[in-house]
Amino acid sequence: MAIANAQLFIGGEWVQSASGTYFDVINPATEQVIARVPDAGPDDMRRAIDAAHAAQASWADAPAADRAQILLRAAQQMRAQTEELAQLMTEEEGKPLNESRGEIAYAASFLEWFGEEAKRVYGEIIPASSANKRILVIKRPVGVSLAITPWNFPAAMITRKVGPALATGCPVIVKPSELTPLSALAIAKIFEDVGLPQGVLSVLTGTQPGPLVNVAMMDFSVRKISFTGSTQVGKLLMTQAAESMKRVSLELGGQAPFIVFEDADLDAAVSNAVVAKMRSVGESCVAANRIYVQRSVVAEFSRKLTAALAAMHMGNGLDPNVSVGPLIDSRAVAKVARHVADAQEKGARVLLGGERPEGLGYFYPPTVLANVDESMLITQEETFGPVAAILAFDTEEEVIARANNTRAGLAAYYFTRDVGRVIRLAEQLEYGILGANDGVPSTAQAPFGGIKESGLGREGSHYGMDEYLDIKYVSLGGI
Ligand code: NAD
Repeated sequence: MAIANAQLFIGGEWVQSASGTYFDVINPATEQVIARVPDAGPDDMRRAIDAAHAAQASWADAPAADRAQILLRAAQQMRAQTEELAQLMTEEEGKPLNESRGEIAYAASFLEWFGEEAKRVYGEIIPASSANKRILVIKRPVGVSLAITPWNFPAAMITRKVGPALATGCPVIVKPSELTPLSALAIAKIFEDVGLPQGVLSVLTGTQPGPLVNVAMMDFSVRKISFTGSTQVGKLLMTQAAESMKRVSLELGGQAPFIVFEDADLDAAVSNAVVAKMRSVGESCVAANRIYVQRSVVAEFSRKLTAALAAMHMGNGLDPNVSVGPLIDSRAVAKVARHVADAQEKGARVLLGGERPEGLGYFYPPTVLANVDESMLITQEETFGPVAAILAFDTEEEVIARANNTRAGLAAYYFTRDVGRVIRLAEQLEYGILGANDGVPSTAQAPFGGIKESGLGREGSHYGMDEYLDIKYVSLGGI
């Protein structure tokens, strides 16, 4: 579907890039080229910014119910096209088809939730200090927005930004990852089909993100940037945004601890660890990167987790029996291999996996490492791969300190039956998202986001709407 539409979507039209050049999209399971997509450059970004400006006033002033309808229709259409969209996602990103279907449902849920929320951008009346005054608070769309997204969730990371932008009345330009441009273009097609006015959404695919994005970063009239990706690029964009004081939302890298206490339901901890570790083959910002297990249960937990991961099938995600797809590219495989080799050199034991298979495709098998400690790279960098690194701990106080000993602060998970401990850890773990006996906390109505170097701002929930709204107040005198 989107392959037939491999053009840029600018100002409501499907066009070639100004340079007329294209780039290849690779299927990571086969290393084959599956599509050629226009390589957008600065001139294309300028066109998109102009188109967004031309559309801005009428979109901001359209009745909220009309904006809501567009979003709800888009969600409906996305769900109706689940099979085609999931297949496309699996081909360009690699994740197993069932996970791609799940992501399409998740992506549509953001459009639906924000469509509903569009109707609830309420103001406020604050009591004034004198009898002849009133204070009125109103919220207005922040203006033209730029959304920059990663490859690991090629649809949901886009709808999580486009949903609130459109709901609040902001035109939005999407710059998806060059590794997964097809899902982004398919989303643009859906919005075209459901009647989004021209210019309100543009999608620019390109291999030179720096120069492409720079045009928007230098343009004062672009008032908002929402970025999901690496902490390194996030910091760069924040610096650039300072020049014109753009509103900034940053969803950056994680380093999630997954803590299992001896009083936990161990089977539940194992099955949740499988999902928290293996979703998207571990290529997720909320992936469990350090699995801390209390010493008295570490052997049993390790045995059960190893058995669960050994039962997974690796291969091309289009095969319905496959539950472990390829990584995104050869660099990703090399990083995972480097982390495993470093851990082995420093004394970790491989309980499962650890060997790259021969042949085509960027595969790395589910791997379990025991005897891991914090001297190893795998506990310090985001691994972004299917490696479960198990660390033993003794006390609650100790594990909290070890879990917090990182600059990242996105997601943390913990498993315990002690209610007091559930509360204590919720307060003391320095993370924005906490899964207490839950390995899958993300959902459209919850405020997703990190603290410390994992970013700024929230996506999803009514907090996610606020990221696209300016607050103004009117002091009414002479009453
Ligand atoms: P990345 O930072 O390399 O790329 C993200 C996006 O930024 C891509 O669209 C890329 O083209 C663009 N980009 C790269 N360099 C740029 C530059 N100089 N100027 C402007 N744009 C630039 O990240 P990635 O490898 O695509 O994604 C993986 C990272 O994203 C991981 O660190 C992961 O944790 C993070 N992530 C975070 C969340 C979250 O919600 N916190 C969600 C998913 C992924």
